[in-house]
Amino acid sequence: MIYNSLASIGLYWLFLIPGLLLGIWAQIRLHHAYAKYSEVPVDSGMTGAQAAREILDRAGLQEVPVEEVPGHLSDHYDPTKRALFLSSDDFHGQTVAAVGVAAHEAGHALQHQAAYGLFNFRMALVPVTQFASMAYMGIFFLGIFMGFLPIALWIIIGTFSVITLFQLVTLPVEYDASRRAKEQLFRLGLVHEHERAGVSKVLDAAALTYVAALVSSILQLLYYITLARDSRR
Ligand SMILES: [Zn+2]
Repeated sequence: MIYNSLASIGLYWLFLIPGLLLGIWAQIRLHHAYAKYSEVPVDSGMTGAQAAREILDRAGLQEVPVEEVPGHLSDHYDPTKRALFLSSDDFHGQTVAAVGVAAHEAGHALQHQAAYGLFNFRMALVPVTQFASMAYMGIFFLGIFMGFLPIALWIIIGTFSVITLFQLVTLPVEYDASRRAKEQLFRLGLVHEHERAGVSKVLDAAALTYVAALVSSILQLLYYITLARDSRR
C-alpha cells in the first residue's frame, strides 16, 4: 500500500500549521524583544563579551575563550571546543540584550563545568540526532517521489522520535542556562535591579522559540503516528 493520498496531505497541513504559526509568532516576539533591548544601554557599560568573560573567570573558567562570530543571533557555546561564540552585535554591544544573551551562553559553559545531567545527555544525543535527521530527510524525500511504504513510515516515526526527544531535552537545558545567567549577572553586579525585567524578556523570548520547535515536532510526530495507525485498518 502507498500513502500519498490527497486526504493525508490535507491532514499533514492540519498538523503542521499550528506549529508553523507558533514558530512564526515566537520568532516575531524574539525579534521585537531583542530589537527593543538592543537600544537599552546597561548601567555597567559592559559589552556582552566582557560580561561573559567576567562570569567565566569568576567560575574559574579562564581557559574558555569568548570569540566573535558573524551572523545575527548566532551566539552559542560549543562544548566540543569548550569555547563561547558571540555574534558581533552581542560581542560589542553594551546593551541589556547583548549582556543577557552573552550571559546565557556563559550559562551553558557553567552547565558543562557542573556536569549538569541534562546538558550531558543533550550532548550525547547530538551525533544520534544528526544521523536520525539525515535518515529522516532521505526517507522523506524518497517517499515524496516513490510513495510511502509502511516500513518507511515506521522508520520516519523512529527517526522523528529521536529528533523530538532532542528538542524535549533542549528545553530544560535552555531554561537552566538562562536561570544560571540571571543568577550570575545579579550576583556579580553586571546588571542592576531595574535592568532585570529586560534581561528576562529577551531570554524568555529566546526560550519560546525552543518551545515552538518542540510543539511543532510533537504535532508532526502525531501526524506520522496517525498515518501509521490508519494504514493498519
Ligand atoms: Zn542556549
